[in-house]
Amino acid sequence: MNPYETEITEPVKGIFRIPIPVPLPLKFVYAYAVMDPQGIWIIDLGMDVPEARQVWASADQTLGLSARGVAGVIVTHYHPDHIGLAQFAYDLWHAPIHLLEGEIAVARRIFEDNPTAIDMATFLQKNGAPAEEVLFLKREENARRTIVHLPTELVALEDGQRIPLSDTTLQIIQQSGHTDHQAVIYDEARQVLFCGDQILSRITPNISLWPDSDPNPLASYLSSLNRLKEYPIRMGLPAHEHLIDDLNSRIDAIIAHHYERGDEVEQLLDEPQTGYQVARRLFKRPLNPYQMRFALSETLAHLEYLRLAQRIARDDGEFIRYRHR
Ligand SMILES: [Zn+2]
Repeated sequence: MNPYETEITEPVKGIFRIPIPVPLPLKFVYAYAVMDPQGIWIIDLGMDVPEARQVWASADQTLGLSARGVAGVIVTHYHPDHIGLAQFAYDLWHAPIHLLEGEIAVARRIFEDNPTAIDMATFLQKNGAPAEEVLFLKREENARRTIVHLPTELVALEDGQRIPLSDTTLQIIQQSGHTDHQAVIYDEARQVLFCGDQILSRITPNISLWPDSDPNPLASYLSSLNRLKEYPIRMGLPAHEHLIDDLNSRIDAIIAHHYERGDEVEQLLDEPQTGYQVARRLFKRPLNPYQMRFALSETLAHLEYLRLAQRIARDDGEFIRYRHR
């Protein structure tokens, strides 16, 4: 099956799935339009690149979004492939753009305060990344200024908030791990879950340790996922790849994957090593600096999870090294 559906579909009555192209290996982010007579709700937007604007302009016509009126937009999390077009969407529909409150703060800090890459560089160096991979940060810092544009007003959502529509209610559920405050949205009447990047059908969502964020993102991720199992869910509507028919078994598979990965990481610590050294051994294929950084930050999420569970120990010196206890 082609993981990259390219046409607008209606997987559940009244909900349209709109493929928005992104210049990433995942090829598309899938936005959703909940067609309520009182006003349409849009979930996720895409990165601010010309081809994505074009697709939105044509979807706006095809689905009659502007004509019928958009009541609100929910951006699941602050990553550029979801939030990038926030200003564009605001200009197009004059509708409020919502994110969970904590996520707004992170988005403002990263995309507007333009933090220098110093903290990140120190973090990478201490965890053993070589200089050329640290330098790569600078290029990225420049790139991120062009692909994300935020409106002056972003409206804060709260965990558990319920948004009443005419034939259903959208319930906001806060999830952590992929970002610290990702909103997934439960459509109560249709019993479907808009799961953002929290649960994907084929790949395991990236769970990474970064400076200035959750010190144990993997633990937060696993407990977030368990919370979702309480909801009766007939289908998962993720922001990338396929629809998910059996969300609970996909959740179980992702949890099992992380447990196995944790054991693997623990076994690799035959001698004290930096996170970078462990990542090189864990990800056997050659990686470019961008992929290597994700490999490192994912490995660090596992190492910190194991350390905080008292399974391994850490020594802090010029470099941070992990070892058996
Ligand atoms: Zn994404």
